Formats: sequence, C-alpha cells, structure tokens
Amino acid sequence: MKSYSKKPFIFLSYKQRITIFVPRKALLFPMKNPNHPSVLLIYTGGTIGMVENQETGALEAFKFDQLIENVPELKRFHCSISSYQFNPPIDSSDMEPSLWSKLVKIIHQNYDDFDGFVILHGTDTMAYTASALSFMLENLSKPVILTGSQLPIGMLRTDGKENLITSIEIAAAKRADGTAMVPEVCIFFENHLLRGNRTTKINAENFNAFRSYNYPLLATAGIHIKYDANYIRKANPDQPLKPHFLYDTNVIVLTLFPGIQENVIRNVLHTPGLRAVILKTYGSGNAPQRPWFIKLLKEATERGIVIVNISQCPTGMVEMRRYETGVHLLDAGVISGYDSTVEALITKLMFLLGHGKSVEEIRQMLNESIAGEITIEQSI
Ligand code: ASP
Repeated sequence: MKSYSKKPFIFLSYKQRITIFVPRKALLFPMKNPNHPSVLLIYTGGTIGMVENQETGALEAFKFDQLIENVPELKRFHCSISSYQFNPPIDSSDMEPSLWSKLVKIIHQNYDDFDGFVILHGTDTMAYTASALSFMLENLSKPVILTGSQLPIGMLRTDGKENLITSIEIAAAKRADGTAMVPEVCIFFENHLLRGNRTTKINAENFNAFRSYNYPLLATAGIHIKYDANYIRKANPDQPLKPHFLYDTNVIVLTLFPGIQENVIRNVLHTPGLRAVILKTYGSGNAPQRPWFIKLLKEATERGIVIVNISQCPTGMVEMRRYETGVHLLDAGVISGYDSTVEALITKLMFLLGHGKSVEEIRQMLNESIAGEITIEQSI
C-alpha cells in the first residue's frame, strides 16, 4: 500500500470536525485464556442481529450480551470473544463514511489486543464498507471479516449462525508461523470467503448473496475451510497499522443507456462541487461517439473532474483501446477503472480525493492497485 499523510478526522463534504466516540468493549466469555486466539466482534446492525420475540413473533434487535443464549455453539470455540455494539444498531442503508471511520478507530484502538476482527453488518451496503475499510486500514496484517445474514439469527432457518461461526473461525485462523491466515478485509457469506473490495451484493432473496466476479475465492468452507494461499494478500506484520479517516464524497455514478440526453449529462457534469465521475459504459468500456458527448466529457476533465470508465458488465475488464468508441473516451481524458467493482471505485475515489491529492496524482493512483481492488501487473 502507498503511504498517506495522517490528518485529523475531517470529512470534506460535511465541513466539520467529527469526534468519534468509541464505546467500551464487553468480554463475552469472562475467562480470557492467553493461549487461545482472541476475536473482537463488532455489531453494526442489519438482519443478522435480530431475534424473533417468542410472544409477539415480531423481529427485534438483539442484545449482544445475549449472544451466547442465541448462539450457544460459540462456547465450544477455543477462542476469546469480546464485542462492541453500535448503539443504536443501524440498517446498513444508513451506513456512511463517518461510521467507516468509527470502525477504523475501533479496530485501530484494539489492534494489539486481538488476533482478528469480525464485523456484523447489514448486507445491503456491506460491499461498500468492506471496500472502504480496505483503503482506510493501511498495512493491515490481521483479518477483518464482514458478515451478515439474509434471515435473522434468531430464526429457525437462519443463515446467520453459520456465517457468524465460520467468520470467527477465519478471523482466528493462523499459519504455522503464527501470522494471520487471511490478513485482509474480506466478506464471508454462504461458505465463501471473498476479497472485500472485489465483492458485490447480487441477490436479495437467496442465501448465496455475494459474488466476486473478477477475483477468485480466498477460501471455501465445507467440512474443512480450504484457503487458497495463491490469492490471499501477503502482509508484513512488522509494519504498524496506519489508519486513515479522510474522505471527500463529491463523486457520482453516471450509467449510460441508449437515448441518454445531452442536457442530463451536461447537468450532471456541472454539479457544483463535483470532483469525480464513475462512467458506467457498455461492454469493454464503450460509449457513444457523438461529438456533443465527447465534448462534454473533455470539457469536464479539463475543468479537473476525474472521469473513470467501468463497464456495466460485472465480469471482465475495461479495454479502451479495443474499439474506436473507447479511444474517443481516452482522447477526452477519461481513465480506465480496469475490472473494479463500482463499490471499490467509489470508495477509492472518496479516499484519494479526501487526501488532498492533485488531479494528476489521483489519475496515477487509479492506475495502481492500492489494496488488491483491480487487476493490473503490480496488483497485490
Ligand atoms: N436492510 C438490511 C441491511 O442492510 C438487510 C440485511 O441486513 O441484510 O441492514
């Protein structure tokens, strides 16, 4: 990862200084055994943290001190588990950058005391949070595993127990040399361990809700958890964790479609304060060749707006030199987003813009993999 300057907690879009309150953590198992790995469970909210009220049948938020009652299997772990609970827990539709910073702060403050971290999170924006954390936790050498569920943990057919139990096991897993098995930000869901910044939610119905289209699975959980060391990030535990808190949210996603109007694109590109546009193009990065379209894009890049091209196809890579339609975009100053997910690209742009980089520096860093989010030669 690259190095970034450490600054106070300022969100440029909010124009105010935010102090993040980090609550005290609770030890779920009072006896902490120094020979056992330790995991910090951070509950942000979402479906996984709900139980059915036996009398009314209504779903209610779960009190974390009752976790053992609802998941007694946790007692059988040779692992010390402590927890933090967001108060109040949030639906992940309400997730925002200040809460990503809160998560970074919790992990940073507890980094030396735990072998791994499990974040329980609503599924709707889990891929955004995982992507953001992958950029904000520079030099991460311990697992940060996000998980959730489609059915509440207190329901009979829940997928939450399995997801929670296996995520804790992965967060505690070590290699023979004592280093973490998976030292990166991941999503674990329905037996699959995915790189967080490669993941997208694709299903609102099935348990199998997440996909990593452009990067292989990091592990598969069956009778055994089979890790694929070829694809897991290599970390250097000697480098201290460097947390980042800065973001600029003046970015927008513009999805092309046949018939899109000139005035719509003009208005979007003239949005006050706009600093970056993710242009969702067709196929391998193709877009209309109409002169007004190319002219509007060119004028925007000349005003210093960063425009990045990703495809509407979830699988594959933008190749702007493949067709003439893509070459026109290059001439207009549009840069490639490679095989990035929209979640990873939005959070990467917010992160880079928030660090006060020049447009040229940002354009250059978009051609580099910071945390394994795109496939290029120097990808980690
Ligand atoms: N709306 C919920 C959330 O994202 C859905 C879920 O938890 O899966 O918080």
